[in-house]
Amino acid sequence: MQVQKPYRILLYYKFVEVENHEEYAAQHLAFCKEIGLKGRILVAPEGINGTVSGTIEQTDAYMEYVKSDPRFSDMWFKIDESDTHAFQKIFVRPKKELVTWRLEEDVNPNEIVGTYLSPEEWYKLMQEDDVVILDGRNYYEYDLGHFRGAIRPEVDSSREFPEWIRENMSQFKDKKVLTYCTGGVRCEKLTGILMQQGFQDVYHLDGGIVTYGKDPEVQGRLWDGKCYVFDERISVEINHTEDSVVIGKCHYCGKEEDRYVNCANPFCNVQHFCCTECEPKYKRSCSDECREHPRNRYEEEKTNPESA
Ligand SMILES: [Zn+2]
Ligand SMILES: [Zn+2]
Repeated sequence: MQVQKPYRILLYYKFVEVENHEEYAAQHLAFCKEIGLKGRILVAPEGINGTVSGTIEQTDAYMEYVKSDPRFSDMWFKIDESDTHAFQKIFVRPKKELVTWRLEEDVNPNEIVGTYLSPEEWYKLMQEDDVVILDGRNYYEYDLGHFRGAIRPEVDSSREFPEWIRENMSQFKDKKVLTYCTGGVRCEKLTGILMQQGFQDVYHLDGGIVTYGKDPEVQGRLWDGKCYVFDERISVEINHTEDSVVIGKCHYCGKEEDRYVNCANPFCNVQHFCCTECEPKYKRSCSDECREHPRNRYEEEKTNPESA
């Protein structure tokens, strides 16, 4: 029997009107601090979006607190077990929007949204001939892992998506377009953006990649590599079948590697794949310039791991 781990990581969002969102964010933060929860939560006039970590008691108390609010009573928490916290601190930030799209014409997912697919429906549909699969995330997330055959968007923020779609996807307007993201929040508007641009048949993966990876039927099939996550774990396993492959390559030596690190030059910080042998050799620095940068923190981190 598998023993339950002592911590949990929760991932959740909901689009619903939040009045006085700044005030609500402050109350929310006070509650999180009181119970010792850690993580990153965004509160906007259009809803809430968060990833948090805590003990079983802390996360139970938090879920109860959220659901006791009638606006969030049907909140869907995606739960991962964990050995530790996945964050150092708690942030609850009031924002203009849950994902930074900065659209000229906003889309409300409660009014215009693509068709939701369960993991089983997604698995079936993605193998049909007349579909295109569009990764709804940034290129560095795609590079760590993605659905087999998915299009890699050349964007490093959601903001760039609408224009990128306009320039690169128009030949697919008569196809079924399937989009996916980590937990589903980005596809809530991405599907609407596609529909606004004239795509007729738009679908998204309900609950995102993390839900797909937990589905007992599909077990993450046709997912290659790992899934990038925005907490200290950096990545999680999705494909639990023998068909699972590594798709990253070490930036330095080129061998298969899906270990993502940040460049040791604090002004660069760029994420890249790096194997354990190359890390000390190249001081975890993405270029010669970064390696020789006076503020390179690699040596310092080795002597004082706390500063990492
Ligand atoms: Zn290497
Ligand atoms: Zn660098």
